[in-house]
Amino acid sequence: MADIIKLLPDHVANQIAAGEVVQRPASVVKELLENAIDAGATSIKLIIKDGGKGLIQVIDNGIGMSGTDARLSFERHATSKIEKAEDLFNLNTKGFRGEALASIAAIAHVEMQTRPEQEEMATHLRIEGSEIKFQEVSVAPKGTSILVKNLFYNIPARRNFLKSNLVELRHITDEFHRVALAHPGIAFNYYNNGSELFNLPNVNQRQRIVHVFGSKANERLVPVKEETQVVKISGFINKPEFAKKSRGEQFFFVNNRYIKSPYLHHAVLSAFEGLIKPDSFPGYFLYLEVDPGSIDINIHPTKTEVKFDDEHTLYAILRSTIKHSLGQFNIVPELDFEHDQNLDTPYYYKDKSVMQPKVTVDTGFNPFKEMPQKTTGTLAYKKQSTEGWENLYVGLDSKMGKEVGFSSVKFESDAITGSIFQGQQEETESIATTFQLRRKYIVTTIKSGMVVIDQSRAHQRVLYEQFLRNITLNEAVSQQLLFPLRMSFSKSDIDILKEIKDSLMTIGFMFSEIGDEELKITGVPLMVTESEVGIVLDQLISDYQMQVAENSFSQTDVLAKTLAKTLSVKTGEVLNNASQISLVNNLFGCKESRVSPFNKPVYVTITESDIDKKFI
Ligand code: ADP
Ligand code: MG
Repeated sequence: MADIIKLLPDHVANQIAAGEVVQRPASVVKELLENAIDAGATSIKLIIKDGGKGLIQVIDNGIGMSGTDARLSFERHATSKIEKAEDLFNLNTKGFRGEALASIAAIAHVEMQTRPEQEEMATHLRIEGSEIKFQEVSVAPKGTSILVKNLFYNIPARRNFLKSNLVELRHITDEFHRVALAHPGIAFNYYNNGSELFNLPNVNQRQRIVHVFGSKANERLVPVKEETQVVKISGFINKPEFAKKSRGEQFFFVNNRYIKSPYLHHAVLSAFEGLIKPDSFPGYFLYLEVDPGSIDINIHPTKTEVKFDDEHTLYAILRSTIKHSLGQFNIVPELDFEHDQNLDTPYYYKDKSVMQPKVTVDTGFNPFKEMPQKTTGTLAYKKQSTEGWENLYVGLDSKMGKEVGFSSVKFESDAITGSIFQGQQEETESIATTFQLRRKYIVTTIKSGMVVIDQSRAHQRVLYEQFLRNITLNEAVSQQLLFPLRMSFSKSDIDILKEIKDSLMTIGFMFSEIGDEELKITGVPLMVTESEVGIVLDQLISDYQMQVAENSFSQTDVLAKTLAKTLSVKTGEVLNNASQISLVNNLFGCKESRVSPFNKPVYVTITESDIDKKFI
């Protein structure tokens, strides 16, 4: 029989290897950014056209390459980063396989300009489908610029497989986020189709997160810090109330490399247990530093998976570090979601710092040691030892001001004492009485005791559900404006408004004109007054931007939340009795009255027996 085994030609081998390394434009972006970082760049520019299908360019101010190195860098297994296999175990660079450039050059048109600092002239080189088209001497700044065009031009199947520009751009942005977050000390610029998407100066970790995710990210962050022999952990977690229904803001960096680790993710989740709804995800930005010898990053061609020597220890350390941070910063259970309709006292540990001297707080109390016990009644409370019972009022006190404990309740409620003692007749009379406490809470009676409702959150909930209904059923009522309202916005804001225009119309907005930087509004939702239109639209734009950045948005939900937040009654507003009663009725007519649209508790219940206990 004739010999049938052939050696694959290099360009075919490279194409096959490319399949592993380059799945989509975002993979190219990742490799090029990582090379720039390995080259010691302090400033990196990323330029994208048409979701990376048109063009991907990365320009760095790193060490550059000599003419020979520039040529060699496109060879398979050409790398300056390891010399022998053992080096793999002591890796401080992102790359090591020497495959990226060879793979990219096998399936695209690539152009490189590069110059090391000490050399006067730069090298300019073009390579298409692994074939060098030209190499010449040129003039260029120090560093390297690599330009990748027509990705997958010679593999139509792969090219057709690519998603829309928008989707590919989203992948690129994700990749960019990961790299930018891992390297706050490097300045980044990111452009798409000529407009600047990100301009990130050289800053610290926290500022970098804020620059990437928007100024509102700052208030969500809780610092995390721990140093052990095994691992050094730093970074931030998002406060539990900002947990998301969808994934998006979960970042692990090991030795400044973004990694995915379902196992460590689980460690974080378990630290948040009981603090967030079971089907939601906490956000985190965690930077782990370990001995490079104790991990193996070699197990995945795109290098996002890492194997740790001692995963169990790492898990335990991570979990307890996060619990510690949550505890230290007073981020404790506000709601136990397993209770469903029942409530625990959500306030006993909150606002600890503003408590009154008379009140003793069990500082050793560890909210994680033991979750509030489940009881069977409709109004379940955590059982406290009598010694620590004052703790029950800590939250209440601070919210009510100077006076301590119930004395202030009494004081505030003098005028309507009648309703507090209404208990006896309440069985027969179902009409609840309400009163407003410190322009903040609505207190009302129920069969088993009383409910203290946060007026603003309650109204948010009512409005939120109403808007959701309006949008889904398309039943919103619009009020025509006598004179159309002209409002100016930035170009990018107008772009966003255009994107959400249809949703805005479903809730009652009407536009006669949307210009480049101006909007003409002819109708507004019934609930919105003319003077509120600006605030509502501004808020919408910023919330929408945030949500897009976070990768998780339903337009409808963002819209309903924003409107609810902006239009709701605020703390400090006086509500007359009729409004109070209608708010209470509307609240309890809601599908989910316990939490605000932003997952904050709306009310607390205090049963008669709780009150009885306090009189012992
Ligand atoms: P790896 O990064 O795994 O070594 P690559 O194919 O990504 O493999 O790059 C090959 C080599 O080209 C690198 O080892 C490095 O020496 C050189 N190189 C690539 N990009 C740059 C750059 N932006 N600046 C300087 N050198 C670079
Ligand atoms: Mg590389």
